[in-house]
Amino acid sequence: EDLAIGVDIGGTKIAAGLVTRDGTVMGRLRRSTPGHDARAVEATVVELVTKLGEQAPRAVVGVGAAGWMDSSGSTVLFSPHLAWRNEPLRARLEDALGRTVMLSNDADAAGWAEHRFGAARGENEMLCLTLGTGIGGAIVLGGKLQRGRFGVAGEFGHQTLVPGGHRCACGNRGCWEQYASGNALGREGRALAGSNSPVAHALRAETNGDASAVTGEMVTRLAEAGDPACGDLVAEAGEWLGLGLANLAAVLDPGIMIIGGGLGSASPSLIETATSAYQKALSGRGYRPFAKIARAELGPDAGLVGAADLARLPRG
Ligand code: BGC
Ligand code: ZN
Repeated sequence: EDLAIGVDIGGTKIAAGLVTRDGTVMGRLRRSTPGHDARAVEATVVELVTKLGEQAPRAVVGVGAAGWMDSSGSTVLFSPHLAWRNEPLRARLEDALGRTVMLSNDADAAGWAEHRFGAARGENEMLCLTLGTGIGGAIVLGGKLQRGRFGVAGEFGHQTLVPGGHRCACGNRGCWEQYASGNALGREGRALAGSNSPVAHALRAETNGDASAVTGEMVTRLAEAGDPACGDLVAEAGEWLGLGLANLAAVLDPGIMIIGGGLGSASPSLIETATSAYQKALSGRGYRPFAKIARAELGPDAGLVGAADLARLPRG
């Protein structure tokens, strides 16, 4: 079968598409994610795959989701931002669909797609970060996606950068994703707007004075439009981003690090700040090459394209 069905389950939307062997998406369907309800999410995936599958009766299904998958791609062990806990998602979907299903982490799927078809084509030593609600990560070494011994490699967002720092949905404090994700920008934006600070007038105007309505997306948009206060928040996030990138380079020595996800594609200035912060923080700088830092190319299709491609590969 030349087509595979890719599904990307995110915190806000579920996207599915028919994907060819060269990564082209033939048909796309989207629904919003039905909240913190695992059964309703499954039902939505079944509905989308059934519809797309009419044209591809034998296509396998690759599902990328914001969860920590076990190494066989069967069970969602845990998800900081969704309801799954030891969820046998693969068996449930296979029973409902009568098709082979393979689960991958959402960022693994997106990173794999960027490696195969996007901004990291031709680079076998690559990392990918997805910046959105959290920070997702993918590791490709020697041209192979590295999932680790238990399936959960590349959870970059949960490296502790600030001991005792902000509480994270993974259960710890001070995780990287609390400082350089869309959620982090939203939290800082709400704090700024609520502080009555004289510099927060653009943010307050945007929400008619309701500080609790500030989102990360809003902060990013105002920053890109030139608002200095929001620009400072994005720059701060960029500094944290660059520091974490230097840590990753110290461990894995990639040739390229791709930044994707909603925030990554919305904010060129974030990536600029992160690149210079990375270069300032890199160990042994001056005596080793810098990894390239580049924006993702596949946009919102990355997750479903990568999940479909990974479903066609033997696991391991
Ligand atoms: C999760 C990852 C996920 C990322 C992006 C993180 O909080 O731990 O599994 O890839 O968010 O969705
Ligand atoms: Zn965490």
